Amino acid sequence: MKKRHLLGGLLNVIPFGLNRQFRKMRFGEYLTVLCYHRILDRPANFPYDDDLVSASADQFAGQLDFISKHYNVINFKDLRLRLDGEGALPGNSLIITFDDGYIDNYEIAWPLLKMRGLTATMFVTTGFIGRSRMFWWDEIAYIIKTTRADHLELENPVQVSLALGSRESRQEPARILIKKAKLLTDDAKETLIDELSEKLNVAIDESEHRLTMTWEQLRELDESGIEIGAHSVNHPIFSNIEEERLRTEIAHSKEMIENELGGEIITFGAPGRGILSPQERARFEKLLRKIVTECGYRFSTQYRWGLVYARDFDAYRIGRLGIESYDTKTSFKAKLSYPEIISY
Ligand SMILES: [Zn+2]
Repeated sequence: MKKRHLLGGLLNVIPFGLNRQFRKMRFGEYLTVLCYHRILDRPANFPYDDDLVSASADQFAGQLDFISKHYNVINFKDLRLRLDGEGALPGNSLIITFDDGYIDNYEIAWPLLKMRGLTATMFVTTGFIGRSRMFWWDEIAYIIKTTRADHLELENPVQVSLALGSRESRQEPARILIKKAKLLTDDAKETLIDELSEKLNVAIDESEHRLTMTWEQLRELDESGIEIGAHSVNHPIFSNIEEERLRTEIAHSKEMIENELGGEIITFGAPGRGILSPQERARFEKLLRKIVTECGYRFSTQYRWGLVYARDFDAYRIGRLGIESYDTKTSFKAKLSYPEIISY
């Protein structure tokens, strides 16, 4: 990470506000959308997927202070009002989004947002709300991190031979398996998890894992001005399922939230997709756009890194900047100033 910090330091020599002025003069008005997953202080031996933790509470608070100082924080409902009214992007605007619906969004992120009077958009996976159910990447990480075995041999559905190493360094083998899963159909991915569970002798009792928010909590967020968006029902690997299932995931998640909270859900946050060739990717994104539009959403975030410019604004392909737990104050600031350069 050292190089990244060094580069961030060099890039940050130009003051943040001035850089933004230059960008606006050159490319016109733009919107910044940030993507977070979990906000929490990881305990030692954290048994879930470390890569889903975007920031600790302190890191997040520092980022919010920076954002409050430099931006006008809105959500997609505000954006709709603005586009329907004046037809233009609001100046210096930023949207904070959270994917998946983890409980720390309510317990840790929300109080920090509230304290500063900031809104956000939280994309929730409706089939996990109010239930003890683990996301597939957390299941893989949990099995790998808690098994007593030190080696994994697998034939089906993928061939794997992996030394698991010490408990502290198990995120790396978990990461390898999560990546392999993205090459499988969503059903084969489930087979992979069953095989891992059996081979590594780890039975998951989902009732012991309360990882997501409840409908009651979402109602409270909704009433306090946090926008709730949909993020599918089951969070399958989104490009690796049949069209009919894709449609059900997109339509039902919207309906479920609208039934529970009342009001209209206007934003869809597309869940992670598999690893695709450029052609497959183009075909999948076209299909996704078609379904999301037909289901009555007004906006959708999609698999795109970068700022959202007024000049080529596309409501169904909103780009975002992913924030990661290794982001320092320097790299966070550089990421927001120069996302074309710091893009990971
Ligand atoms: Zn997700």
